[in-house]
Amino acid sequence: MKPNLDILVPACVREFEPYIPSKPDAELMKLYGCARLFRLNNNENPLGPPPAAQKVIRRFPPPKGAVYPSGDSYCLRREIAALHNIDTEQILVGNGANEVISFVIKAFCEKGDNIITADKTFAVYEWVATFSGIEARVIPLIREGFDDQAMLSAIDDHTKIIFVCNPNNPTGTYWSKQTLTDFLDAVDGKQIVVIDEAYFEFVEAEDFPNGMTLLDQYPNVVVFRTFSKMYGLAGLRIGYLAGDLNIVDMIRRTCVVYSVNGIAQEAACAALRDDTNHIQRTRDLIRESKEFLRAELSSLGLPLIVGEGNFIIARLPGSDTLAYRQLMREGVMIRPMTGFRYPNHIRITLAQMEAMEAFVGALKKILH
Ligand SMILES: *Cc1c(COP(=O)(O)O)cnc(C)c1O
Repeated sequence: MKPNLDILVPACVREFEPYIPSKPDAELMKLYGCARLFRLNNNENPLGPPPAAQKVIRRFPPPKGAVYPSGDSYCLRREIAALHNIDTEQILVGNGANEVISFVIKAFCEKGDNIITADKTFAVYEWVATFSGIEARVIPLIREGFDDQAMLSAIDDHTKIIFVCNPNNPTGTYWSKQTLTDFLDAVDGKQIVVIDEAYFEFVEAEDFPNGMTLLDQYPNVVVFRTFSKMYGLAGLRIGYLAGDLNIVDMIRRTCVVYSVNGIAQEAACAALRDDTNHIQRTRDLIRESKEFLRAELSSLGLPLIVGEGNFIIARLPGSDTLAYRQLMREGVMIRPMTGFRYPNHIRITLAQMEAMEAFVGALKKILH
């Protein structure tokens, strides 16, 4: 007899619409008949990992592939702690920041609880909550940014975590230090406030807050960082969270040891120690591409959302999913935004000028 999945599988899992990742590049290129492909869909760094990390990856001794890595990324946590001037035990490393999202939700939420986030932001907070049977309250953005007042109003006795993406993926808006600390003062320690700083290293604005410096004053804050974006290590899957010792001590109970592989740990250490101005070179490239795209897309009459981070949004006259397929045929992969609740919008990763020019050329072609 077949297993009865209506009985075996909880409704929150059965009813969840699974996310379908895109096919490997080689498959896509065959499917769309393009000889080369610019990946402008995932906010990756076109410069790759910093040279010091590249060296570690190249020289990783193959026999080490047989040996379990440090189960709690010990050396890496020591480096990260020194960087932020906090205790090693205040840090948990995961298989990408994506994994630490589930650590936090598992640690604090049970049936009947809710989390609060925005409607147009990184969707993984909402997804993990939803398939775990936790209500996700998605508060509409205001002026393309997180609506602090509406989020405070949505809090009730069952609210456990508030997720703030700063700066926000995909709009690039951010809360200033003042807005953030006012919000934290209003929350008054009653909920966990996660500040997802996946794009921290890209931000140059003066009034942008560094969540790591708020941990002492606000012991309910948990900060997320990743090596996937600025540090160019998305393929190795490594990210981390930081928080107050007592909070992290609870979250640690929900993490599975050995989820972070050995090459990732060593490459991340090297990335932090790299002294080749990788961050500055990346920022310079992003700034140039941002201004180029802003000018080109404005002259095409497309409404834009341009903020912090290595991406911008453009509104098209028609379907974003159709534009995705048409651009793929031209060898350019962008992110259609229907899934982010932005129909007819596309998000473009800011990359090297060659890719930006290819994108603009392809866009002009499909718009005409
Ligand atoms: C990319 C991204 C992450 C996840 O990064 P990992 O690759 O899982 O480390 C988390 N939050 C935001 C906002 C992101 O854009």
